[in-house]
Amino acid sequence: MSAKINQNFLKLNESYLFSEIARRIRVWQSENPEVADKLIRMGIGDVTRPLPKTVVEAMVSAAREMGEAETFRGYGPEQGYDFLKDAVQKYYTRFGVELKSDEIFISDGAKSDLGNILDLFDKDNTVLVTDPVYPVYVDTNMMDSRKIVYAEAGEENDFLPMPAPEYAADIIYLCSPNNPTGAVYDRAALTKWVEFAKEQGSIILFDSAYECFVTGDYPHSIYEIPGAREVAIEFCSLSKKAGFTGTRCGYTIVPDTLERCGGNLNKMWLRRQTTKFNGVSYITQKGAEAVFSQDGEEEIEENIRYYRDNAKIITDTMDKLNIYYTGGKNSPYIWLKCPGEMDSWEFFDRLLKEVYVVGTPGAGFGKSGERFFRLTAFSTHENTREAMERFEVFVEKLR
Ligand code: PLP
Repeated sequence: MSAKINQNFLKLNESYLFSEIARRIRVWQSENPEVADKLIRMGIGDVTRPLPKTVVEAMVSAAREMGEAETFRGYGPEQGYDFLKDAVQKYYTRFGVELKSDEIFISDGAKSDLGNILDLFDKDNTVLVTDPVYPVYVDTNMMDSRKIVYAEAGEENDFLPMPAPEYAADIIYLCSPNNPTGAVYDRAALTKWVEFAKEQGSIILFDSAYECFVTGDYPHSIYEIPGAREVAIEFCSLSKKAGFTGTRCGYTIVPDTLERCGGNLNKMWLRRQTTKFNGVSYITQKGAEAVFSQDGEEEIEENIRYYRDNAKIITDTMDKLNIYYTGGKNSPYIWLKCPGEMDSWEFFDRLLKEVYVVGTPGAGFGKSGERFFRLTAFSTHENTREAMERFEVFVEKLR
């Protein structure tokens, strides 16, 4: 007798991208100790601004409640406390979206739920992702051996692929604003995706982890699009919005109107969560509630403005150098075409060795990223400015 393992894990690619970046930096540092401290990291996907004061105070106060017999709380509702669901519900009304309380599920972040939601789907389903792609969508489906179809993104569609007959799939992942490209779908484009999903009977898994960076008339939520309640599940996160990457909190919306093959997905998700999840800690949820308070929002806006200013420093540099890019306007990511016809790893190496700036090679996000490079707005103003000055010198030398 021997326990059989899920063989699909053996087929997964090594989590190569960030470990390879770290390895190349280590080699460079050991060979160039005299300039090692000049390195600027512009590939950071994590936030750098601390939690807003109001959020910290709410968490401290909640921790005190947990230390008193009268206010102590044990297991909470698996779907989240009403006080936080109410705050999320109210937040959505700003975009004209009315949600019922039991359509909102508080999570410990978008990544877990993006993986966990696959419990609701048959392993025979076909999955559509865009290329380049946030690797979690691919790996979680490979673990279940689902067939994956890639919708190619590139300069010709400004990294916003649109529905096409060859993209017919049961599950469709859309991420807007996108990681890694920073590209954002407008209403007309999302309407086409919703109609496409409706025609095919597909379900859209809509990742809105970066919605807080949206400006202007772009949708924050897929539910701003008529008909989306019948085809989409939405995943959102407080990670980038409020600095919760380490604190862990997000929310998933499963409309009670979403049904397939006799199953109601809202009821199925509730059943899944009450069986496999015991909720997010009270302390964290109190902190998350404060994110939506007036003071919290003001403090968060200041942090988001800080990142937006960094993004502007980067996009101004790209404009000046006439380099093609997407993102940066509704996103903390700037996705640029490698100058000098370089591929993304060659560009990575030269940028590191010649001006000591690190970004993320596009090839790590898929075939369509091979000649592209991702910079992020999560550094400090000082480092972003300095990195862009060096970037400019580097590119000018190539010309
Ligand atoms: N979705 C996308 C597109 C992301 O880039 C990330 C994090 O980088 C996540 C989801 C995960 O967010 P969370 O920290 O809430 O798990």
